[in-house]
Amino acid sequence: MNTDCIFCKIVHGKMPSSIVCEDEKAMAFMDIAPVAKGHVLVIPRVHYDPITATPDDVLAHLIGVVKQVAQAQVKALGANGINVSQANGRCAGQLVPHIHFHVIPRSDGDNKQMKWVSGSYADNDEMASYAENIRAAL
Ligand code: AMP
Ligand code: ZN
Repeated sequence: MNTDCIFCKIVHGKMPSSIVCEDEKAMAFMDIAPVAKGHVLVIPRVHYDPITATPDDVLAHLIGVVKQVAQAQVKALGANGINVSQANGRCAGQLVPHIHFHVIPRSDGDNKQMKWVSGSYADNDEMASYAENIRAAL
């Protein structure tokens, strides 16, 4: 447990939460400041952060829980869309440094703004050079 981490406090019952489901590896609970009502956070019980330091088996398990929560949001809330998001680092908008997935139910006409502002490359060569840099690091 990371004693400074609010999500670790939730896992260990030292902070209240509204739990949706839990198992030996993961917990899903309500986000207290929902983007849309029914917004759920899915976290591992063990403190990992960021995604690049989280074991593959933990990530695989978390994404399975994300899917189950999304299915339940469709069934229970009548959501006709779901956003799944996950931020790493302050510059990416992460506030709580314990890996978590946001699972946000969406509905037609909900007027939520979750739009990325699209950019562009100077040309295809510039895009290809980014691809090459990433490929070389894999
Ligand atoms: P992020 O910006 O991706 O790190 O998101 C952190 C999320 O945690 C935000 O959406 C917060 O509303 C949520 N949050 C912070 N504290 C709590 C808490 N005690 N219980 C539930 N959700 C929380
Ligand atoms: Zn933690």
